[in-house]
Amino acid sequence: MATATKQLKKAARIILIGAPGVGKGTQTKRLLDRFPQLGAISSGDLLRENVRKRTPLGIQAESIMQSGNLVPDSVMLELISSELISRGWLLPPQSSSSSSSSPSAKPSISRTASFILDGFPRTAAQASMLDEIVPINFAVHLLTPPSVIISRIASRWVHEPSGRVYNTDFNPPKVPGKDDVTGEPLTQRADDSIDTWKQRLKQFEESSKPLLDHYEAKGCLWRVEGNSSDEISPKLFAEIERRFA
Ligand code: ATP
Ligand code: MG
Repeated sequence: MATATKQLKKAARIILIGAPGVGKGTQTKRLLDRFPQLGAISSGDLLRENVRKRTPLGIQAESIMQSGNLVPDSVMLELISSELISRGWLLPPQSSSSSSSSPSAKPSISRTASFILDGFPRTAAQASMLDEIVPINFAVHLLTPPSVIISRIASRWVHEPSGRVYNTDFNPPKVPGKDDVTGEPLTQRADDSIDTWKQRLKQFEESSKPLLDHYEAKGCLWRVEGNSSDEISPKLFAEIERRFA
């Protein structure tokens, strides 16, 4: 589906919060098409890339993800902040040898970069750590009843290298079993089995309350409900335009 694109006038630093399978990846892709200035980092995609490449971090994370639990906060912060730096959205700490004014070696945010973080932060502790380096100005809570999500999780297929997500019921690939862009095979996520999904949901329900409270207190939390991604996208587009375009 071709969407008209829109320019943003203000820097948007957006996070998406929602139950596993709510469609964070789907909304992210649509937002990138709609607002070409946006970039995105998906914590789940980054972790899966590390698992695929057998990095030490990936090897450590694999069994945690497979059980539906959360990777430790410190590991996640390190992973996300180095990705933010490599994208140029965070500027690495200045070496302070020549300046006496700035003893703290903190990275600083690019004032113009607009981006979405999909899946990070996921705990209040992660949110507090992120506050130190990135001032998030829009936290989106995506709400879909778990009974609806569970009914569609079994038909979710992904192109792992890119993170593109399909659903054989309502968003099928052009060629069955193949990624639209590369033609490479689609797979199902190891953690999309029903039992693991239930554990991920439980994990989400435990960690999300303090996370949502964190952003509510900052005044940047916004909720959007829908039974499908198609119901949610237009509302989300409109709200981003209202705030940033
Ligand atoms: P979906 O992608 O369907 O919206 P999800 O949010 O459960 O659902 P991902 O974001 O892809 O899935 O995350 C998959 C797994 O990666 C999580 O279950 C968790 O183990 C790990 N993970 C991802 N992001 C984080 C994070 N910020 N903190 C801790 N663990 C994380
Ligand atoms: Mg995801």
